[in-house]
Amino acid sequence: MSNPIITLKRGKEDSLNRFHPWVFSGAIASMPNNLEEGDIVDVVTHDGRHIGVGHYQIGSIMVRILEFGTATINREFFATRLAEALRLRQALRLNRDDNNAYRLVHGEGDFLPGLIVDIYGNTAVIQAHSPGMHFARTDIANALTSLEGIDIKNVYYKSETTLPYKAHLDPQNDYLIGGFETNVAIENGLKFHVDWLKGQKTGFFVDQRDNRSLLEHFARGRRVLNMFCYTGGFSFYAMRGGAELVHSVDSSAKAITLTDANVELNFPGDARHKSFAEDAFKFLDSMEKDSYDLIVLDPPAFAKHRSALKNALRGYQRLNAKAFEKISSGGILFTFSCSQAVNKDQFRLAVFSAAAQSRRKVRILHQLTQPADHPINIYHPEGEYLKGLILYVE
Ligand code: SAH
Repeated sequence: MSNPIITLKRGKEDSLNRFHPWVFSGAIASMPNNLEEGDIVDVVTHDGRHIGVGHYQIGSIMVRILEFGTATINREFFATRLAEALRLRQALRLNRDDNNAYRLVHGEGDFLPGLIVDIYGNTAVIQAHSPGMHFARTDIANALTSLEGIDIKNVYYKSETTLPYKAHLDPQNDYLIGGFETNVAIENGLKFHVDWLKGQKTGFFVDQRDNRSLLEHFARGRRVLNMFCYTGGFSFYAMRGGAELVHSVDSSAKAITLTDANVELNFPGDARHKSFAEDAFKFLDSMEKDSYDLIVLDPPAFAKHRSALKNALRGYQRLNAKAFEKISSGGILFTFSCSQAVNKDQFRLAVFSAAAQSRRKVRILHQLTQPADHPINIYHPEGEYLKGLILYVE
């Protein structure tokens, strides 16, 4: 062991023995007082048994374990983990002529806690959520461009809003390798302008790919309302699926500009589509009953932290109640929550309450989750964040 050592309190190794990759501050008995955020540390039990190697940071989660056992955390380590991550995506057949947008690294789900990497054609967008990954960014970028099996030419680093503010790392969003090329990515044959420079998250919500595909099969002949549309993802699947009309709504004018540009990329001049830069709640309040027979509700995370849970659940209930109230008979509702702090059962209960409030007959057709390129480490159930229901409303 050559790294600084963090010693656990007696009995605090249980969750680590079950491969949960986080060490909470309350579990720590001692550590060197000159540790700096992002340092690589060894974690040992109170009696000196070595558990693993991880990244240290200040906060309630103090260590994120990178390897149970010993490992040297260097460029080679990242190259190996990234190659494993790519092997899974290749097995999922996500890198094809008609699909080049997918998540290559999903944090703990790819045994790289604190790291997100999304791929858009020849460009990889890195998001660091921990100081340790911030300091490793050059190794990660170099490992990405050396990966065999994909041709990454540009690596964009986008962590200004994801790193702990108090760590004073002052990250700059910028290219680590290469520069701007085309920003048109392809998802299941549909084209999207991905704004990784200024857009939300890494520029696109790759996590809804499978759910968008499912929507395509429900869209024929329907009047579709895509609420919280961002760059319009669900809308284009609906159009390809034969929707009668598609309305996209987002409160961000920038998002609507991107949606309009994506209409032109995929269905130039198609009069079935209209977009509205409006607040979703106001839009639902003012719209006529029976205007739509397929509604998508994909709001941003209402609860960013556990403390906001109660309000978030009320928010989901309120939003869904409005949709139940207005959707036409025989309508289909796709409703989602991407809040990590809200679990599947809590979300379902909020939607149930909304349904009961509307007094409509409601049945669950599908229960949705995140796609396979957002894998959930079985030892880290917190990695399951996206929940959705497809409902039939009589
Ligand atoms: N469904 C999208 C992703 C949605 S992300 C996709 O498939 O890509 C959530 C979106 O909700 C963001 O674009 C954000 O601008 C928008 N938003 C946030 N609050 C809103 C509100 N009150 N009304 C309408 N849109 C809102």
